[in-house]
Amino acid sequence: MIGDRQGIQVSIAIVGGGLSGMSAAWELYQAGIDSLVVLEANNRVGGRTFNQFHPKDCLSRNG
Ligand SMILES: Cc1cc2nc3c(=O)[nH]c(=O)nc-3n(C[C@H](O)[C@H](O)[C@H](O)COP(=O)(O)OP(=O)(O)OC[C@H]3O[C@@H](n4cnc5c(N)ncnc54)[C@H](O)[C@@H]3O)c2cc1C
Repeated sequence: MIGDRQGIQVSIAIVGGGLSGMSAAWELYQAGIDSLVVLEANNRVGGRTFNQFHPKDCLSRNG
């Protein structure tokens, strides 16, 4: 069992909330496993996939 700083215990910890980590979490959740946590160092999930919206309806896709 792995506990986080708030004392919640989970069975699985996924390190990194990029495409791989979020996909793994989704697949596990779909398989009925909801005792998990995604640990992300950044202040957002997505990792290298990142869309930016600019003025005049311009979208840049970075990753
Ligand atoms: C400019 C660019 C264009 C791309 N274009 C394409 C494309 O057209 N098609 C395509 O298939 N792929 C493309 N890619 C590649 C694709 O974005 C990556 O392969 C994919 O995002 C990798 O996902 P990942 O989850 O493996 O890693 P990452 O996205 O790198 O995610 C890793 C996550 O783990 C976190 N992390 C790392 N260490 C720790 C730690 N110790 N504790 C907590 N969190 C941690 C990071 O903050 C990050 O959020 C592109 C990439 C770039 C940069």
